[in-house]
Amino acid sequence: MEITEKAPAKINLSLDALFQHADGEHEWKMVMTSVDLADYVELSTVATRQITVTTDSGFLPVDQRNLAFQAARLLQKKAGVTYGARIHIRKQIPVAAGLGGGSSDAAAVLRGLNRLWQLNWSLADLAHLGLAIDSDVPYCVYSQTALVTGRGDEITLLPKLPPFWVVLAKPSASVSTPSILRSIPYNDQLYHPPIDQMVAAIRANDYPQILASMGNTLEEITSQRYPQIKQLRQKMQRFGADAAQMSGSGPTVFGLCAKYSRAQHVFNSMKGFCHEVYLVRPLLNGLG
Ligand code: ATP
Repeated sequence: MEITEKAPAKINLSLDALFQHADGEHEWKMVMTSVDLADYVELSTVATRQITVTTDSGFLPVDQRNLAFQAARLLQKKAGVTYGARIHIRKQIPVAAGLGGGSSDAAAVLRGLNRLWQLNWSLADLAHLGLAIDSDVPYCVYSQTALVTGRGDEITLLPKLPPFWVVLAKPSASVSTPSILRSIPYNDQLYHPPIDQMVAAIRANDYPQILASMGNTLEEITSQRYPQIKQLRQKMQRFGADAAQMSGSGPTVFGLCAKYSRAQHVFNSMKGFCHEVYLVRPLLNGLG
């Protein structure tokens, strides 16, 4: 039997870094949602313990460096299963873009193998396991709008967002997340977006208040190295996005538009400045 699991990209509507733990991990407070730009992860069981990864993308490792491989190995070990898996990733999410593609692939492997191997683990159990792979994996196991705190492992699901469109613009630079995280200056000057206000705005289904609560602590840090991020953000706003911001550690910039005609205009205009541009929507019904 072969199953296909959808692995959607995420965006950070807001992202705050609170402090760094003694072991080097960061304490996060962020609001994430998933959009309908997705990888598709095809999974089948093999009789031996072997795990193989293939992909249609020329840019990805297919050995133990691939987060999908790590997820399968970890689940296999923790669940004590004696068989393995064949994993094929149809890659659509840009790599090293701040869209969580690798984490989402890993989460899709956890969900998919849980079904295929009939393990009956809860999403909470899978999310807990996924934290060992990357701090975005617990969120990606759910892939629905959530407040994410702790090291990425505390997930509070939030209600459905009001309807809007999302334009994603990915500059050609690839950003190394660890290198950005190493340079977070934890001092009094570090910007902290109003995350509680964002959560309240989502709970109230208040679109203008969602726009007013956006913010990303990492945007200034990544923009210093890649000035094109600031330019893309300004262009998005000038072309009429209701608000624009960098996602994750970058470099992808996203713009929100309540009106489809406005989103189309922003999308078409941005294509003149950035060769990878997408017009998407938040996932309306999660992964279902
Ligand atoms: P994040 O913001 O969650 O750290 P990102 O969206 O910026 O991630 P990814 O696309 O997840 O970046 O890729 C980050 C790194 O992970 C790349 O160097 C890539 O080679 C590696 N990687 C390993 N497995 C995968 C995968 N299945 N898909 C994408 N990248 C992967």
